[in-house]
Amino acid sequence: MIPVDAAWHTIHTHAKQLEPIRVPLTSALGRTLRTAACADADSPPFDASAMDGYALRRAEANAPLRVIGTSAAGAAFTGSLGASECIRIFTGAPVPADADCVIKQEDTTREGDVLSVQHADSPAFIRRRGENRQSGDVVVPAGTRLGPAELAALASAGIAQPAVTRAPRCVHLVTGNELVAPDQTPTGAQIRDSNSTLIAALLQQHGAELIAQTRVPDDLAAARATIESLPTFDLLLISGGASVGDHDIARPLLEALGFTLHFQQINLRPGKPLVFASRGPQLAFALPGNPVSHWVVFQLFVAPLLLLLQTGKTSPLARHPGQLAADTQLPPPDARQTFWPSRAVLTQGSYEITVLPIASSGDSSGLVGANALLPVPPPPGKFAAGQTVDFLLCP
Ligand code: AMP
Ligand code: MG
Repeated sequence: MIPVDAAWHTIHTHAKQLEPIRVPLTSALGRTLRTAACADADSPPFDASAMDGYALRRAEANAPLRVIGTSAAGAAFTGSLGASECIRIFTGAPVPADADCVIKQEDTTREGDVLSVQHADSPAFIRRRGENRQSGDVVVPAGTRLGPAELAALASAGIAQPAVTRAPRCVHLVTGNELVAPDQTPTGAQIRDSNSTLIAALLQQHGAELIAQTRVPDDLAAARATIESLPTFDLLLISGGASVGDHDIARPLLEALGFTLHFQQINLRPGKPLVFASRGPQLAFALPGNPVSHWVVFQLFVAPLLLLLQTGKTSPLARHPGQLAADTQLPPPDARQTFWPSRAVLTQGSYEITVLPIASSGDSSGLVGANALLPVPPPPGKFAAGQTVDFLLCP
């Protein structure tokens, strides 16, 4: 049985960042930028008005001025200002070179073409060329995870097809003679398959592309044929059958497919029969079928792996301090490294942790609300309300 830290070490020595591709901005949310994005022009590209008002020379503002034209956003004034002349101007419009301020319209009165200025001492209200960014400045550094603000910055810089890490291509094979689809009513020894839904959602949340998801019986030949018929993938997740029971096909399946198994058991509760394997750059996990094990193992290993494939960063989940909401006893004591699904809520600047009442690792509804993992020290697994604990926040 491999310790949790050693398992992560093994995983990240077999993984490396995927190659970049160019995608349209509409497909780039959440992706990692691979090439620094630089401004292709000054921003703003010209001296621009910050107000609706009048552009003029401040030294002339204490006497009436004649309004000789207009500069609007997208339609600059092309003439020049003579003595005691001004133009009407709108926010975002170019300010003529011979004006040195914009007086906002609330500070003026106008009769026909004659303008009088009331507050000539107001700020200039001109956004100077290049005051935001100069041509060539880096607007989004390489390695940035692209959120809405970063995408907008790329759009401003004219980068419509940024180079980003491609999404990891994942295949999910769900094994189990007992499984039926969520829209079916189980009979006899059947149960509903909840792991397909769980894994599809987790993969989506972590930026992966689920290229195929198939439910198969515990039949090695059928499972093998299914995988061999699929296009190439980066990550194979096999749900269920990861242990050594008569119906557990995940390990022989991985071997039949030519994968090398790197570990087959981990000192973890829940999730002991976790298998990690590789075939060249392709990686695979066999995940123990219990839904709670699935969630825990995904957060501890699959999520950081997907991050590594996309960002190249090898950081496991960050630990945060929090206070337990209530007295807690986690039964039964176990010598394995336990990670208990929990709920962390930020209250008045610190996290309050509630350990979820999970009856067994088959209890998928016990996971509702889970957004954290509480590492539980060896027996007796007892905590007092208000006690400070370190926990892992699951994004
Ligand atoms: P296994 O890892 O295949 O031995 O499965 C362990 C437990 O998880 C068994 O009780 C299975 O019925 C259950 N299980 C396996 N796959 C799923 C699934 N896709 N959805 C819900 N429960 C499952
Ligand atoms: Mg099974």
